Amino acid sequence: METVGVIGAGQMGAGIAQVSAQAGYRVLLSDVSRAQAEKGKAGIAKALDRLVAKEKIAADARDAALALIEPVESTDAMGEAALVIEAATEREAIKRAIFESVGRVLGPDAILASNTSSIPITRLAQATPDPARFVGVHFFNPVPVMGLIELIRGLATADATVARVEAYAQALGKRVVRANDAPGFIVNRVLMPMLNEACFALGEGVATIPDIDAACQLGLNHPMGPLTLADFIGLDTCLEITRVLFEGTGDPKFRPAPLLVKYVEAGWYGRKTKRGFYDYSGAEPVPTR
Ligand code: NAD
Repeated sequence: METVGVIGAGQMGAGIAQVSAQAGYRVLLSDVSRAQAEKGKAGIAKALDRLVAKEKIAADARDAALALIEPVESTDAMGEAALVIEAATEREAIKRAIFESVGRVLGPDAILASNTSSIPITRLAQATPDPARFVGVHFFNPVPVMGLIELIRGLATADATVARVEAYAQALGKRVVRANDAPGFIVNRVLMPMLNEACFALGEGVATIPDIDAACQLGLNHPMGPLTLADFIGLDTCLEITRVLFEGTGDPKFRPAPLLVKYVEAGWYGRKTKRGFYDYSGAEPVPTR
């Protein structure tokens, strides 16, 4: 597998393109336009520059990786790729339209994969040319830093598809875990109830924001507390994933905390809106309650 296609040059797509090129794959990168794909590549160039400045990679490794990334006009160019990874906006209609157009050019042995965080792989597979050659490949943000990939097989995914994508993921130096197609896969299934529970605890007045965070950070030996992490991920995203778990399982244990819903309704999404459980408008985050 020498050529990898990446559709969507945003936060995740750019990261996937970067690590693929660093592992020696030729990368075709598309977005809604060539200009957007070029913008994605410019971001990758900056990220690689930072790695050179920190002496994590050599300048010629940066140049070699960049030379392997080719921004393209549209999905029509993906016919040369042995693996096409869709990392576009998390909206099912967008992903379905992409699969339809890439399906027209996809090679007869090529694999199509989606980086979706929450849409069922078996359902998405219905929009692809061959569900046996479709698989979920869930990277984590930021892609160059995070060492995990969840591989999610849909009902129709072939063993050979899983094996080939696993070999690619390992070539990137990532630890691969395999999951079946269940809401939230593994990481979000376990993480989101914890973040949601922290919101319940705060809403019920169990403790303050800094104390809930300090308790989990130091008591569980986590790198950061759950409310800090929720602000980092985005409270809107946390709520959306929690709803996927709740609706997908029908289990009331996943019901979203009322306080989380309220914050999202208020437009307090966390770091990206400068206010969530903390206020980020100053030099240091300040707890809001
Ligand atoms: P993003 O908004 O940074 O990037 C999405 C990109 O898709 C944008 O550049 C957008 O222009 C492009 N796009 C939209 N419609 C398109 C189309 N029709 N064709 C080609 N490109 C199109 O979003 P992101 O955070 O990179 O998320 C991308 C995917 O990765 C989503 O499915 C998301 O659920 C998943 N994901 C995100 C994270 C995360 O932490 N951000 C983690 C794991 C997985």
